[in-house]
Amino acid sequence: MSRGDEVAASLDVVRRRIAAACAEAGRSEDDVSLVVVTKFFPASDVRLLAELGVTDVGENRHQEAEAKAAECADLGLRWHFIGGLQSNKAAAVASYADVVESVDRAKLVGPLARGAHSRGRDVDVLLQVSLDPPGADNRSGAAPADLADLARRVEEAGMLRLCGLMAVAPLGEDADAAFARLAEVRETFVRDHPRATALSAGMSGDLEAAIRHGATHVRVGSAVLGERPTVQ
Ligand SMILES: *Cc1c(COP(=O)(O)O)cnc(C)c1O
Repeated sequence: MSRGDEVAASLDVVRRRIAAACAEAGRSEDDVSLVVVTKFFPASDVRLLAELGVTDVGENRHQEAEAKAAECADLGLRWHFIGGLQSNKAAAVASYADVVESVDRAKLVGPLARGAHSRGRDVDVLLQVSLDPPGADNRSGAAPADLADLARRVEEAGMLRLCGLMAVAPLGEDADAAFARLAEVRETFVRDHPRATALSAGMSGDLEAAIRHGATHVRVGSAVLGERPTVQ
């Protein structure tokens, strides 16, 4: 089987999973977008995905993302940055990313706005919220209590469009329980920011649970492109 056939077949399976989860949740398929996570996979795979109708791709490491976005600039894809962000890289990320999903602290806002400004184009922003218990080590994402302040800074920065929230279910916890908490956080958030309705949640292993709890974007890597090398 060619790489193209292989990717087409697994993409089809993922699209069916999304459709089935939407049907089960009584939601329209149009409400859930697929972002294919292409980290560790070559630009040639990104090209195959574009041919198969994929419009949104996600990357989590700046150097790799920057190179791939440049190599695939002709494809008209929307690039989502979904990884941990260093503030000294944030302006550069905003120069190619259409959506930055992993904004989790105030320090990133100024550099992102500068990057968007020098590119001359608005950048969509999602605030990454942590679903870890308070005080957990290695948490990535803002504490729910810090979202209001972070949202205000994004809105005041100019050139950044506050679109919603992003989260990753903590390892070792039932995804349904984690995404149920996320749905509550989002309900409060949307009350204060009625236009920021995007919710990026769900990956290869838990996209059904995320869709049950209101995800509007699922970020799926390995179920489409195969296993990544384990060194990450
Ligand atoms: C890698 C990654 C994904 C995709 O994970 P899979 O399990 O391969 O689908 C989704 N979200 C984030 C933030 C990631 O880093």
